[in-house]
Amino acid sequence: MCEQGGVTRRELLAGGTGLVGLAALEEQAIAEAGEVNKVDPIAQDVYFHEGDLAGKGHCNNGWIVFEDYVLVIDANFPSGAEEILPKIRALTPKPIRFAFDTHHHGDHAYGNQTWVDQGAVPVAHTGVIDEMRKYETGYYGGKPGRWEETARGRADVKASRLKPPSVLFPRELIFDDGRRRVELHHFGVAHTHGDAFAWLPKERILFTGDACVNGPYNFVGDGSVEKWVRTLEAAKKLGAQVVCPGHGPRGDSDVLDDQQRFFVSLRDAVGRQVTAKKTADEVRGSMDAMRAEMAADGRIARYVGKDTFPAQAEKVYTEMTGQRFPGASAEVEVARLHHAHRHGHVMG
Ligand SMILES: [Zn+2]
Repeated sequence: MCEQGGVTRRELLAGGTGLVGLAALEEQAIAEAGEVNKVDPIAQDVYFHEGDLAGKGHCNNGWIVFEDYVLVIDANFPSGAEEILPKIRALTPKPIRFAFDTHHHGDHAYGNQTWVDQGAVPVAHTGVIDEMRKYETGYYGGKPGRWEETARGRADVKASRLKPPSVLFPRELIFDDGRRRVELHHFGVAHTHGDAFAWLPKERILFTGDACVNGPYNFVGDGSVEKWVRTLEAAKKLGAQVVCPGHGPRGDSDVLDDQQRFFVSLRDAVGRQVTAKKTADEVRGSMDAMRAEMAADGRIARYVGKDTFPAQAEKVYTEMTGQRFPGASAEVEVARLHHAHRHGHVMG
């Protein structure tokens, strides 16, 4: 999907050809945006489905039809699971046996109960359970946690219940029936401490969960930006030709490259301020300048979000110095809470 008249998307976005006008850029952006809620067959028995993030907070999904069963990638929210269930059923009568949670966030894992009701087993890296123990305190007998918070803002979550994955793998898990092969890999800390990728070596298709997104959707609160860059390096070594991100349209290997470049660039921008011994207030004060600088890089401009950037910059600053920005504004707090209700985790 990258090639268009011999001009790569990267060149288009960077204005590298010098001939490409704004209209072409806009056209390309629409083509890139893909279509949400539409079954997208990528290869024989392999499907991608871009979730309705703006309207319903849904994540992207994938599913692979094996000889005897279906493996679903990401449980989504309950309403997201209900959205794709009939679409899978329209394609195959085979039982849905496994739902792979790429990580513990509500928009990827709160639909587990819906899949269990279909006879499936939720599968995940062991780190997903560690993260759930940390944030889903209500489920584990403590004070209300993220699930309860999200249920206050989402009827589908309220009507369901948290179902942690029960088939767990420490590094990798392989589904291979001789026809299809899907490898689940944990490459280290990234978006969370429990991210795993689904890799189809024959088709060279990679499902990334939120370790890689395609747009201004990077939430950095539960992971480590520093380690994330390294984890993306490991994922890149697979040599994927098709990349199905956790949010945003699918693309080619550029998506992984650009996601990594965004974080490298963010660490450079914040790092320069830290090296120059700027105070936390001064770093926060230069937020707009940092954002503008990064938005000027055509390869990563689509990752630079107005709402998400401050938390991303603060996270990097905290990783580098151990300090936070002093006093969050009331507006930021309201936005954070709103996002938590919709998405199952705070914004960033
Ligand atoms: Zn997430």
